[in-house]
Amino acid sequence: MKKIIYIFVLMFLLTACANDQSVKQNTNNVPNTVNTEKEASSDSTKSLMTNDDYARLKVNELGEIPVVMYHALVDENPPTSYQRTRTAFKNDLQYLYDNKYRLISMNDFVNHNIKVEAGYTPVVFTFDDGEPSDFSLVENDGKLVVAPDCAVDILEKFALKNTDFGKSATFFINGGESQFKGAGTYKERLKYLVDNGFDIGNHTYSHSEMSKLSAGKIQEEIGKVDEAIKKAVSGYNVSALTYPFGIRPKTDELRQLVQNGEYNGAKYHNDIAFREGPSMPKLLPTIHVKYDMLNAPRLRGNEDEKDGNDMGGYLKKYEKTPERRYISDGDASTIVVPVNEEVNINKERVGDKKIVTY
Ligand SMILES: [Zn+2]
Repeated sequence: MKKIIYIFVLMFLLTACANDQSVKQNTNNVPNTVNTEKEASSDSTKSLMTNDDYARLKVNELGEIPVVMYHALVDENPPTSYQRTRTAFKNDLQYLYDNKYRLISMNDFVNHNIKVEAGYTPVVFTFDDGEPSDFSLVENDGKLVVAPDCAVDILEKFALKNTDFGKSATFFINGGESQFKGAGTYKERLKYLVDNGFDIGNHTYSHSEMSKLSAGKIQEEIGKVDEAIKKAVSGYNVSALTYPFGIRPKTDELRQLVQNGEYNGAKYHNDIAFREGPSMPKLLPTIHVKYDMLNAPRLRGNEDEKDGNDMGGYLKKYEKTPERRYISDGDASTIVVPVNEEVNINKERVGDKKIVTY
């Protein structure tokens, strides 16, 4: 008897599902005049947004994108403004999540392939110096797992709870196999990061001031790390660098070697190189005419009440003047800007994306 009831219930459910689907299909087949009008007015094949929608959401895909720079995490009393307590880091994540910021990868930032929801602002996380408090592995029952309460662990747990936040971050490392320390080999550590959706960048072999280095030494400092990462994670494309202490090589000619160079018979290429601090050019998207890929700005992940030049200061500015923020239209294939901003788009970096003004 139980079986018969079960079969009846199952048949009822299946019929209900089928009915539901046919209703959905019918709805889809009915021409939606509102949507068609919207499509025509924004002249886009994908986006269904009208100019009114753009204005209401204050869409501006040339607005500022915070690129946050972290170093080590500590439990309490950070020795300098470069370290962050774990509690403060967790609060950063919550603040950003609650205030409509969403994590994007370095690659998507560089290529302006921005897929956050309409009305939201992308944010990029970077961690320098290969610190164990940012990432390391421990052995648990013979298996390698992420060390509890390191930045990667915190990010992964936060992303599990808030699946729409994302968990992208780039870890900029120096030379030597002791990066991140902890359990596992150098290769196992780097592989874990890449296999779990994180990125690895170049912070030069010996963390020296690049203004003091010759052409040969610059290429050695970059090439050695590039080679080691590529050897550890085959097929991985290292494409970003952070200058130690934020200091760039002295001349334009030497700076070009940060982007393209050769060491030990192997060529390397970096799409982007970051300084410390938000100094000019401002925190613009890479398609802005003023964006300098070899002088890319970052915000220190800190409150900094003094000069307002750290993340906390900027986030406060954005609360008062939200129009400064990059606000997405929710469609990665279009670049939507207020009409007066169009002149600031670097058309060479736009690729096949469609520019829409309103
Ligand atoms: Zn550093």
